[in-house]
Amino acid sequence: AISLVWFRNDLRLADNPALAAGLESGSIVPVFVLDPAAKWGGASLWWLHHSLASLAKDCAARGAKLVLRRGDSAAIIAELARTLGAEAVHAGRAHEPWLRRVDRAVAEELAKRDIAFHRHRSALMFGGEQIVNKTGGVYGVYTPFSRACFEAFSARPAIAAPQRIGSIADVASDALDDWQLLPTRPDWSAGLAETWTPGEAGAHERLTAFLDADLDEYDRQRNLPGRSGTSMLSPHLHWGEIAIDAVWRATEAARTTRAEGRTTFLKELVWREFAAYLLWHNQDLDTVPMKAQFAAMPWRDAPGELRAWQRGRTGIPIVDAGMRQLWQTGWMHNRVRMITASFLVKHLLIPWQTGEAWFWDCLVDADVASNAASWQWVAGCGADAAPYFRIFNPVLQGLKFDPDGAYVRRFVPELANLPDEVIHAPWDAPQHVLRGAGVILGRTYPEPIVDLASGRDRALAALKEIGNSP
Ligand code: FAD
Repeated sequence: AISLVWFRNDLRLADNPALAAGLESGSIVPVFVLDPAAKWGGASLWWLHHSLASLAKDCAARGAKLVLRRGDSAAIIAELARTLGAEAVHAGRAHEPWLRRVDRAVAEELAKRDIAFHRHRSALMFGGEQIVNKTGGVYGVYTPFSRACFEAFSARPAIAAPQRIGSIADVASDALDDWQLLPTRPDWSAGLAETWTPGEAGAHERLTAFLDADLDEYDRQRNLPGRSGTSMLSPHLHWGEIAIDAVWRATEAARTTRAEGRTTFLKELVWREFAAYLLWHNQDLDTVPMKAQFAAMPWRDAPGELRAWQRGRTGIPIVDAGMRQLWQTGWMHNRVRMITASFLVKHLLIPWQTGEAWFWDCLVDADVASNAASWQWVAGCGADAAPYFRIFNPVLQGLKFDPDGAYVRRFVPELANLPDEVIHAPWDAPQHVLRGAGVILGRTYPEPIVDLASGRDRALAALKEIGNSP
């Protein structure tokens, strides 16, 4: 029998239950559909290009051609399955709203033709609908959710990548280059290419390097953006180049001298699961605040300030460093994501959805669930939100988490010669210190676009106005 294996958030050959199931029942045709409903951002399209190139190569080495098609998924999958005489379509289970919609349409089309549509657990530890609390309801906060996950989850045993996939009669495919997923005018991807190796092999290398070098100290290092103490697995996990089960298994099996590193890392993987769970139960998580009173927030429309934030020209060093890291590498350290997001939403009072959209376009790990859940969390309108009066002070955050200024120096080189004590607040530095470091505020580096104390007061007043006070 022939079946179609439809790749989506699972661009890998190992630990791929959809692929394994297809092969078990006979020969398969692997296919990927570029569906305009996906609305991927620029950095995601860059990643997707390279990840598909890698997957196509890995398929070819095993005798199969990865079929690329562009357009409406339902029409394409149903038509392909019909013309190939396929008995079934295998895919990973979807949790993103656009893909769930697509899947409903595909299921309908396939049912008309009597072709089975099998979806396998693949991207997540559980499906969003599978975890319920003791009373059968939905968890609203992370900690009990996480406890339930740890209790119920065991990673499935490894499924090796098939040695041979075998090919059936030539199936027409688009050429990847014709899709023009890469940026051209201008080509902003040099920093991304230097930082990342998209694809399954790159994902496994990244995991091994992290487990060997950084797992032990992960709990201590994970908040320090100047060190590379985190896994940087997020884009690989987002595109499913490595299975969550494989990451979990390898982490549990890794040798470590300190249990805290391992436990903290596994808990981060559960944050990813929690975000997907929130999205499952709140399909418009990326636009609608979970706490309804936030709809009345007196947001500001401040295009100049927004642009300064986007370009890393706010005059607040840790914020600018983060926004430039994002622009240059397609990724930002988690601590700095929180600082930059908080600055936009609180100090500038610009809607979190605007920041979410910018991250969506720039992040190689852009993920509807994690991005929206995190922005809502920072804005204070999401699950488990910080108390309303907790507004990150970016200077104190910088001093605490980038004490030697290594992170700021790397991404804001015009401040590199400032001493550690003033690098996070150059406006407080004596003139001779600035001069000695070659810094002229307002010329070589911007003055702060907002006074931090008054920005904070304005945010508190706004939050009070919508009734989010104690
Ligand atoms: P590690 O520290 O090595 O963690 C391992 C894995 O756990 C990550 O790869 C990721 O899959 C998961 N993880 C860790 N922290 C979180 C978290 N807070 N929420 C969800 N999953 C987590 N993550 C995304 O994958 N995509 C996004 O679009 C995204 N947008 C964000 C926006 C904001 C405003 C904030 C504050 C956070 C966002 N995150 C997002 C979460 C987090 O910042 C990244 O997952 C993390 O920085 C990725 O780096 P890493 O792989 O080195 O993480």
